[in-house]
Amino acid sequence: MKAIRIHNYGGPEVLQIDEIPEPTPTDNEVKINIKASGLNHLDIWIRSGALGLPLPLPLIPGSDGAGIITYVGKNVTRFKKGDHVFINAGSGCGKCDSCRIGQEALCTKFFILGEHGNGTHCEFICLPEHQVFSLAKNIPFTEGAAFPLVFMTSWHMLVAKGQLQKGQTVLILAGGSGIGMAGIQIAKVRGAKVITTVGSEEHRQKVLKLGADFVIDHYKEDIAKKVKEFTNGQGVAVVLEHVGEKVWQSCLKSLAKGGRLVTCGGTTGTDVSINLRHLFMKHQQILGSTMGNPSDMEQVATHINNGDFSPVIAQQLPYSQIAEGHQIIEKGGMFGKVVLTW
Ligand SMILES: [Zn+2]
Repeated sequence: MKAIRIHNYGGPEVLQIDEIPEPTPTDNEVKINIKASGLNHLDIWIRSGALGLPLPLPLIPGSDGAGIITYVGKNVTRFKKGDHVFINAGSGCGKCDSCRIGQEALCTKFFILGEHGNGTHCEFICLPEHQVFSLAKNIPFTEGAAFPLVFMTSWHMLVAKGQLQKGQTVLILAGGSGIGMAGIQIAKVRGAKVITTVGSEEHRQKVLKLGADFVIDHYKEDIAKKVKEFTNGQGVAVVLEHVGEKVWQSCLKSLAKGGRLVTCGGTTGTDVSINLRHLFMKHQQILGSTMGNPSDMEQVATHINNGDFSPVIAQQLPYSQIAEGHQIIEKGGMFGKVVLTW
């Protein structure tokens, strides 16, 4: 089968297309013929070695994927040959205290496809059934490969960590990013009001279409000042943050009394400061978050299959153009996800 592999860390040129044997499923696994695989910022960090972790090389990157089941192990109960499915990249050990209470994201052996082991940028993958979810047949594989990681991450941030309630207002940074476009749609489904930031008029129109109530141009306008204006001086109950240094102070200033800032990244830098007096006097919380639990993905899957969410695809490319896909993500400024077709 064809697989994209990294043999050494470096620029997009290290992404190689190799011919390798198809994987063999165990009795507890299904074999999936991947039809589309999605790119995430994580792919860039892994390829460039930015994570600073010893990863198993050569590695097939890719954490999102969707396709058709071609083989079902004899202990598998939920799937049959021909089913359309998508993949949950994250998995706990299934045995530790965190895993036993459904908090797989806290497992010390948490395993992410395309990071700790071979991922989805290949023609076939074998996975245990708990990492596989049904995809309605009317949903294109490209969409099935565009939403899992960002929607699960955003769901965990807004619902599990942020405790976003109906009628509350949330600030979602970079509404045009994968996390941002997922966050906007999740917040609307939960009945919240959405303020988001964009860097162009074109993106402003697109986030309004996704359901954003208020939009701030993060290049031309003062985020915290606009948030205060939109919330009658109160600030927001929740901030969904993933941009880091450049927006950190604006995010803290935008938070209401009792507000929760949830962060899952720092694409502009990760060294930030906080004023403790403001934090305790305003009863605020700063929460870290990454990936999510199977229960988050189950809820996301229900909404996806019901047609409540639209995973926005910025660009669809054949797998042979993987290097171009990485360049598009590194350049930034696209609206939604980059997806490979197989
Ligand atoms: Zn565990």
